[in-house]
Amino acid sequence: MTFGWTAGVGTMHKRRMVHSLALASILTMAAPGSAGGIYAVDVRDDRVVVRFDDTVAGASAFLLDGPRRIALDINGAQIGRGGFAPGNGAIAAVRQGQLNGDTARVVLDLTTPATLGDTRIAADGKSLSFSLREASEGAFRTAVGKGRTRFDAPADMAARPQKRLHSITVPIPASARGVSLPAVEGARDGARPLIVIDAGHGGHDPGAINKENGKREKDVTLAVAQAIRDQLVKSGRVRVALTRDDDKFLVLQERYGIARKLGADLFISIHADAAENADAHGATVYTLSETASDREAARLAARENKADIINGVNLGGQTGDVSSILIDLTQRESMNISANFARLLQREASPFVPFRSAYHRFASLMVLKAPDTPSVLFETGYISNAEDAAFLASRDGQQKIARGVARAIEVHFARKLAMRGGPAGG
Ligand code: ZN
Repeated sequence: MTFGWTAGVGTMHKRRMVHSLALASILTMAAPGSAGGIYAVDVRDDRVVVRFDDTVAGASAFLLDGPRRIALDINGAQIGRGGFAPGNGAIAAVRQGQLNGDTARVVLDLTTPATLGDTRIAADGKSLSFSLREASEGAFRTAVGKGRTRFDAPADMAARPQKRLHSITVPIPASARGVSLPAVEGARDGARPLIVIDAGHGGHDPGAINKENGKREKDVTLAVAQAIRDQLVKSGRVRVALTRDDDKFLVLQERYGIARKLGADLFISIHADAAENADAHGATVYTLSETASDREAARLAARENKADIINGVNLGGQTGDVSSILIDLTQRESMNISANFARLLQREASPFVPFRSAYHRFASLMVLKAPDTPSVLFETGYISNAEDAAFLASRDGQQKIARGVARAIEVHFARKLAMRGGPAGG
């Protein structure tokens, strides 16, 4: 699932307060030519209208608490390219994301408890609307518990042939198009756990660079990923695939997309950190969270999430602010497993790899967004630190990291098997 959020920036047009829920008129900038693309969210009085540049197939909505949000899932729709400018009033911000190739999600952040009513898709299939009704806290919680509301489609909608929609709305360089799935190596037994190792950055994106010696993050991450792969293949206990095995560029969603398509049991994205302070050193493991654990984690997420943006063109198909990522409810279990693995990784790898004292941090990292694949981002050290850079660039350092990661993987899956009561190891 890919979320590219457009958050609240920009001017508000025609704001007019009518009653306490009366709001702002939000938005716009059409994306010409993208079929079913969302191009505007208008909030007029107590009615919200989402407009598309082509027909959509259907929609449903549900409410989320903590913080209060409305999520709209629209079938046959694509995220649009326009920026959404939220106004004041009941809606603080509007964001959009692509749930899968055919379903877009729009999330409206509520400032006060409200419920939905009178949900409708217009007769031409090019817009949907609903009313916002002020609600008490209790009524809001009850509505959250009720689950999805389907939008009634006009009678002739079913008969209308569904259009084939394309899923990419921005130009993608030839190198990033049509990513083929990588080879799976290691154990032949398809029942063995599959680990996808992602070498961060690549191609036109060098990642962080050491100013003194010119060492580049993309080279280090590839060498480390390959060393981990080799170590896992040697063990013969698990299956393993790399998102990239050479110097090529992948957008973030392609990286975890590969893990999802292969049905990976674990996704590990390899990176090397950078800091202004050349003394900063040591490894850190990041797992996904909507909110960063600290300022530094937030900065790291902003930097890593920008990998998709080149010359102002967002190759990941996201618009606006990518530093805020909504986490789906289905993601909670994956997030717990990821956090457990992060702790295990530090425990098993620290004899070989120096870790920072606060070794586990949380951030809204796009590359960890696969909802059903436990995922960690491993900052293996600081490329900006002379000692770390030498360690990361050395064969010895790479093999030490690989040994630590392989040990953690072994313990992780042995535990999983033990919990299921199956045979361990082998
Ligand atoms: Zn990186």
